[in-house]
Amino acid sequence: MENYRELFDGIDNTVDLTNGMAVIPINFDNGATTPPLKSVVKTIMDNIGNYGPISRGTGQKGDICTKKVEESRNIILDFFNLKNNNTHTVIFTKNTTEALNLLANTLINNKKDKVLISRMEHHANDLPWRNVSDVVYIDTDEFGRVKLDDIEEKLIKNKGEIKYVSITAASNVTGYLNPIYDIAKLCHKHGAKIIVDGAQVIAHKAIDMNGTEAEEQIDFLVFSAHKAYAPFGSGAIVGLKEDLVNREPFLKGGGCVEGVFDRYEIWKCPPDLFEAGTQNFFGIIAMAKALEDLKEIGLGNIYRHEMEIKDYIIKEMKKMNRVRMYGDIDNTEDRLGVITFNADGFDYEYLAKKMAYDFGIALRCGKFCAHPYVYRLMGVEDISAYIDVTSQEENIGMIRASLALYNTKEEANKFLNSLEYILVNG
Ligand code: PMP
Repeated sequence: MENYRELFDGIDNTVDLTNGMAVIPINFDNGATTPPLKSVVKTIMDNIGNYGPISRGTGQKGDICTKKVEESRNIILDFFNLKNNNTHTVIFTKNTTEALNLLANTLINNKKDKVLISRMEHHANDLPWRNVSDVVYIDTDEFGRVKLDDIEEKLIKNKGEIKYVSITAASNVTGYLNPIYDIAKLCHKHGAKIIVDGAQVIAHKAIDMNGTEAEEQIDFLVFSAHKAYAPFGSGAIVGLKEDLVNREPFLKGGGCVEGVFDRYEIWKCPPDLFEAGTQNFFGIIAMAKALEDLKEIGLGNIYRHEMEIKDYIIKEMKKMNRVRMYGDIDNTEDRLGVITFNADGFDYEYLAKKMAYDFGIALRCGKFCAHPYVYRLMGVEDISAYIDVTSQEENIGMIRASLALYNTKEEANKFLNSLEYILVNG
């Protein structure tokens, strides 16, 4: 098994447990955010003291930064195998949430336009569409997988009315990978375009936006840097130019406009049209560096490594009587390194916190900003039974372990042993 730990600084710094013992922490909460690669930190440090205005001014520092930003766009296009296409552009955003809000407010002109999204989506790919369009939902099955048949049925039933299907490449709750190329084909067959939320997937599995044939092309893809080994604050839309021209910008201000007159404006073309205001230069170059390095390590290698650990954890957790894992645990091929579970007789929050404070293992617990999906997976129809009458707090949730390339089998064993210890000793 590969060991990628040397690519990172700081992940072996100790933390103090509640009993005062110092341990090297285990981070199994990579679905939330990932630590930065050493090379990414170096890129930021090398540039932090020496920057100038991007796409403005005539100074040399500004010119260098502008060039680096444009190179970053090319690195991103290359990462998604679009280097030789002239079809897509890269728009920088602050994260996936902003990217999806931008698309929802830009691509939809009429509240009656229908958008197809799944019941699996993170709120970032659900709530923005609700305000601006008539949302049609794709159902999930008993395990939480998206139903491909249902997509085609709904595309046929709403032919001509659904212009966009916006779907995640992988669930942040169960890790299920959606068949985005098959979905793209269905979209194109029925006159729609596909928007892929790549937040969970880009650091774990390669995405070829060209697909293997023209009908499989991914029209739009959005992602955040902080889930791909670069810091918070940057993300991007890789999107079809033809759908982004002649639009009003989502954010308005300097840089997005060719001319402003007393009564009208002449807008620029994308990407400038959607990048009003001073851009996050360090975030952009850090994000590009992370993607460049992930490509060099090889997404295939990363995927294999994470799958090996995930399959091992699931195999071992199946032996724990009190544990209930979500999703189809007898067939885990179509899932990222994400294991979501509860334990009979244990409050999810208590268990997750005990793992953190007594054993130094970081997990995530709750509803993962995907409430409708979690309620369905847990079979909750009426949440009122779970609301505390005094505090009005709701007590429904799961625990999630989510892996990254630097995690190891030893960490998996420590996780399993700690979980077992708590299940036995309380
Ligand atoms: N989509 C998915 C699938 C996610 O997992 C997340 C983050 N948990 C988001 C969107 C939102 O990402 P961000 O907070 O970086 O905007």
